[in-house]
Formats: sequence, structure tokens, C-alpha cells
Amino acid sequence: MIPRLRLLIGSLTCSLLALVSLRGEVGKPQEVAPGVWFHEGDLVRKGQCNNGWIIFNDYVLVIDANWPSAAKEILAKIRQITDKPVRFALDSHHHGDHAYGNEVWRAQGATIVAHEGVIQEMQTYEPGLYGKGPGRWEEEAAKRKDVAESKLAPPTLLFPDAMIFDDGQQRVELIHFGIAHTHGDAFAWLPKEGILFSGDACVNGPYNYMGDGHTGQWIQTLESVRALKPKIICPGHGLIGGPEILDHQIEYIRSLRNEVRALVQDGKDLEAIRAMSPVIKEKIQLNDRIANYVGSFFEAQIEKMVLELQ
Ligand SMILES: [Zn+2]
Repeated sequence: MIPRLRLLIGSLTCSLLALVSLRGEVGKPQEVAPGVWFHEGDLVRKGQCNNGWIIFNDYVLVIDANWPSAAKEILAKIRQITDKPVRFALDSHHHGDHAYGNEVWRAQGATIVAHEGVIQEMQTYEPGLYGKGPGRWEEEAAKRKDVAESKLAPPTLLFPDAMIFDDGQQRVELIHFGIAHTHGDAFAWLPKEGILFSGDACVNGPYNYMGDGHTGQWIQTLESVRALKPKIICPGHGLIGGPEILDHQIEYIRSLRNEVRALVQDGKDLEAIRAMSPVIKEKIQLNDRIANYVGSFFEAQIEKMVLELQ
């Protein structure tokens, strides 16, 4: 009895420790595993995304470029930890808060890496990059000084399905599982540690912008990701956590989509469904696991789903 009890107490202590160590703090780098760092960005005040960086024998791989000003902040924090060169920066997708800081990393000598869908997205949303007049970059430059003072540098090292960094010490697999938050989402998967950097394909809180992806395929994509059985999820926005974040993200999209589908099948049009959004919201918020995903994007999410399901 006693040894078994000790074992039980031992494992309880371990899991408590794991929980405590996963409790992040905005702006404070956290070493999730040896040489693997997570940084929760200041979303509220600065609109920042979360970052990660992995320290290999000879170089550093950064997960997400963030905004230009945020990239400088992150770089300074990396420099407090290691003087190894930042050789690669991944854009988990094309959005400004994940990719507009590319120029900062490039100036460090880093190559910007992304799934090839990121370039296709940039061709659609960043016409200014191709000499065709203003797009999203110009829109942000009018609002953000750091963007106005920088320039858009697209990724130059592209992969179709996966790209693997492995120096015998660290192994990071960059994988595209399909359309989700955008058409170019990349996950950074560390199989030895079971750590997943998900970009905005999986967030922890009311941050699901759905305009550039496809919500039905998003669910399928995240189901494929779930098969990896990650132990730690470093989301694109919000707190770091365990595999439950992935479960809740899937459940939120699926639950909302089921509500919308039932109304579409009932013959309701966009206007009628939009008018029902307070009722749908109340229903979703009754589910404790996913209530925290309901936020300012809610009506736009419903609209997107109606367009997909009609
Ligand atoms: Zn995004």
C-alpha cells in the first residue's frame, strides 16, 4: 500500500509541478524544455502574437516574426539567453502580427521560412508587395509606426508539406496539415518533447479570426494535429497549456458550426441568422470548456460559417 501511495503522491507532485511551470507571464520568456522557449506576447496593449525560439547547437530558430517592434523586443530577450545567431524565422502564417517583423529577423541574417501557402496569401492580400497598389500592409502602416518605418519582406524558404530541422540535439518539424486559420498554416512540432507551436490555428481565448481560412477544413486539420498527441501547446495567442487547449479549440469551432448549420438547414438566410447571434452566443457560453473563445469576432465567425454552409 505505502509504496503505491508514495508513487501516487510522486506522480501528483509531478503533474502539479508541470502545471505550475506552464503558468506563463506576458512578456516573460519561459523555458518549456531545455533550449525551447515560449514567450507570451502583449496582445492587449501592443497586439503582439506569441513567440517561440529553439536553440540548436549552432543557431536559433524563431517561431513567428511578430510585428517589427515586437521582433526587436524578442531579439533583445533572446540575446539575454544566447549569443548564437538567429538563422531562421518561421511565419506560422501571413498575418501582420506574425509576419510583418520579417525584415527585423532578415537584418540579423535570418532566412524567413514558411509554408508555400503564405506566399499565395500574400499575393492575394498584399498587392503592394507586387506593385499593385495598397493592401493590408499599407492599412497597418497607417495605424502602426513600426510598420510604417519598416518594409514587408516575404518568406524566401518555402515548403509544401514539411521541413525538418535536426542537429542531433534539437528536432523541430515544421508541418502544414491543411487549411485552417489560413491557407498557409505551419505548425512547429517537437516530437521528442511533445511540444507544439500552433500559430493561430489554435489559440487560447477569444482570438479566432476566421476570415482567411475555412472553418470546416480547420476542424479536420486540427483533428490531424491532435493525432500527434502533443503534451504542451504553445498557442498563437493566449496562455500556454496542455493538450486540452487543442480539444477546446476544436470543440469551439465544431459547436458554433453545428449551431449555424442547423439554422442554414432550417432555411434561414444570413440576415436571419445574424439576428440570432445573441441566442447562439448564450448557448455556446453555457459550455464552460469553450465559453472563453466567445469574443469580438463572434458575429464575423457566424457570417463566415453561413457563407461556407449555404
Ligand atoms: Zn492570424
